[in-house]
Amino acid sequence: MQKIIEKLYNQRSLTEEEYGKLVKGRSREAAEMLAELARKRALSVYGSKIFIRGLIEISNYCKNDCLYCGIRRSNKNTQRYRLTKQEILDCCEEGYPLGFRTFVMQGGEDAYFNDERVCDIVSEIKKRYPDTAVTLSLGERSYESYKALREAGADRYLLRHETASCDHYARLHPKELTLENRMRCLNDLRSLGYQVGCGFMVQSPYQSIENIAKDLKFIEEFSPEMCGIGPFIPHLDTPFKDEKAGSAELTCYLLSIIRIMKPNILLPATTALGSIAGDGRLKGILSGANVVMPNLSPQSVRRKYSLYNNKLYTGAESAQALEELKKQLSSIGYDIVCDKGDFNKTNI
Ligand code: SAM
Repeated sequence: MQKIIEKLYNQRSLTEEEYGKLVKGRSREAAEMLAELARKRALSVYGSKIFIRGLIEISNYCKNDCLYCGIRRSNKNTQRYRLTKQEILDCCEEGYPLGFRTFVMQGGEDAYFNDERVCDIVSEIKKRYPDTAVTLSLGERSYESYKALREAGADRYLLRHETASCDHYARLHPKELTLENRMRCLNDLRSLGYQVGCGFMVQSPYQSIENIAKDLKFIEEFSPEMCGIGPFIPHLDTPFKDEKAGSAELTCYLLSIIRIMKPNILLPATTALGSIAGDGRLKGILSGANVVMPNLSPQSVRRKYSLYNNKLYTGAESAQALEELKKQLSSIGYDIVCDKGDFNKTNI
């Protein structure tokens, strides 16, 4: 194990088989060693600064039927909502004085949010707040659509690859969704000059260690600017309702591996990680994460954007409670910065 960890630290690259061994052979000592090296890497690039992103969940309508997701189209128990342009702008108006300099618009694949509407909102945010970054996370769209959104001012796009293994992808998604198209989207986004984020759920149903090894190799090779990983958590109105949730421990272990492999990557301690363990967010930071994404959505809709059971949206998870988050972070030696928090391109 020690040899593999040293190779990862020195060469920032392992074979798929070695990634598999690293995950399979994990122990408390290996986790501690990885976390320490990951913190060292994060500190060398970003110091003890943590970037914040204001998350605006713009719609829970979705045309897709992903088996794991609480807002899948066949969930008839979800109360659907979509925000108006004005409501989205109000979220930004509330977030800006709190210190947010990145707004993330995330939602299900909702045809209402066509290019014209999203471009209009993105360009209005950029006009009102020129010193902010706009991140979109609106799923799979065409090249032309991504191009239009980029030209309207979108800077970043989050689209988790979910799993880099075709057979596993097919067990998590209905057949009209393919890994091939996901990869096409990620490549299109990259070619259009977005800062791109991929990622996956930890311990999603049927996920094997070989699948995780493939995910890590994909992240190494694709080299995204951002990477979102969080534990899978079942939702009671999905076919996966009886599946086990992923662990905070394995999520943190993987965060450390990704940080060591990619010193500059923007790596969030996700809401799912905070939802599965009370101190999940802080553990994520101590494992190498450097981003948190508090919720800026209107209070009235937060409960409805229910991707999985017991999703956090209050306390330090809420953008309005930034002071609480600041206190928690300062207790482990980190500070929130009021900054766009772009990917650091310097060669470390
Ligand atoms: N529609 C966009 C997309 O597909 O990228 C953005 C919204 S989607 C709900 C955001 C992410 O939530 C997905 O990429 C998935 O990894 C995560 N997610 C969905 N259901 C989840 C669950 N049950 N547990 C943990 N994460 C989940």
